[in-house]
Amino acid sequence: MQQLAYTQNSSQTLRYRKLHRKMKAGFWLVLFLGLGMIALIFTTYYLTKQVKAAENKINTTLNQYDELLQEHNTLLQEYKEIQEQQETLNQKFQLEKETLLQEKEELLKEVENLKKQSLQGGKKGKKIAYLTFDDGPSANTKKILDTLQAEDVKATFFVIGQGLKNEDKQALIKRITEEGHQLGNHTYTHNYSYIYSSKDAFLKELNQLEEEIKKLTGTKMTMVRFPGGSNNKLYKKYNKSGENVMVQIKEELKQKGYVYVDWNVDSMDAKTKELKSKEAITKAVVSQAVKQDQAVILMHDAQAKTTTAEALPEIIRQLKEKGYEFDILTPNSTQVQF
Ligand SMILES: [Zn+2]
Repeated sequence: MQQLAYTQNSSQTLRYRKLHRKMKAGFWLVLFLGLGMIALIFTTYYLTKQVKAAENKINTTLNQYDELLQEHNTLLQEYKEIQEQQETLNQKFQLEKETLLQEKEELLKEVENLKKQSLQGGKKGKKIAYLTFDDGPSANTKKILDTLQAEDVKATFFVIGQGLKNEDKQALIKRITEEGHQLGNHTYTHNYSYIYSSKDAFLKELNQLEEEIKKLTGTKMTMVRFPGGSNNKLYKKYNKSGENVMVQIKEELKQKGYVYVDWNVDSMDAKTKELKSKEAITKAVVSQAVKQDQAVILMHDAQAKTTTAEALPEIIRQLKEKGYEFDILTPNSTQVQF
């Protein structure tokens, strides 16, 4: 009985022990699993947090990038606007610069004129008549020179080269300078279609005549008168490449020290085909001259213009009566240019 009880007891103990061992193992397993779970939860939590932080960082960076991009665009826009403004300002500046340069040019011209006037000792209001004869010498030159001599008046002759091989014409050229008149260059042939075909053509004719005259008189002509006046647009008809020949010629004349002169009084002796009466010529000259203190008078010394030479004594008489003195054109005279 006791033995049975003991056996029963010991088998109970054995079971108990087994159970105890199982429980122990279970406890460790549960503990281990629990700790594992906790570790997993923590790791997951930690990683999620890290990912979120990284996401936030990326978003912030993206936002900053967007802002920078926007700023960049704004700056680019501003830059473009500034560039446009600068361009407008540049254009304005260029325009103003050109206007100022032009004004400067005009003022310099005016100063130059005033200097010349004072050089001439001209008191304000001193009246000077510059008689000019274009297209000679001709059959009328002798008569003109005789009148000038008789009246003790000096004039300017813008001559051409036509017929200069003729000894009579050569003698007239010499007489013009010997008697104190001025010789000016009116081109060799006066042929519009050639002289206004190019700058070189004009200058060739200018030089050609200058050489001929130099041989006869020993002096260089510095005064020039454009056939047709300095404002003629004949080159448009005769220059085939569309260049502004007049601007080119004027530039070249300036560089070479020539001075061109137009007129502010037109005798009208070449305005019409039919011959003007000497009375009409005198009236045209005097009526225009009285409006000018410095009257540069255009007349013609051509074979057909007989009435101009006939009108000359009366023109001189009336101008003297109105208080005019007479002089020759020089680079220092008042420049009348169209
Ligand atoms: Zn002429």
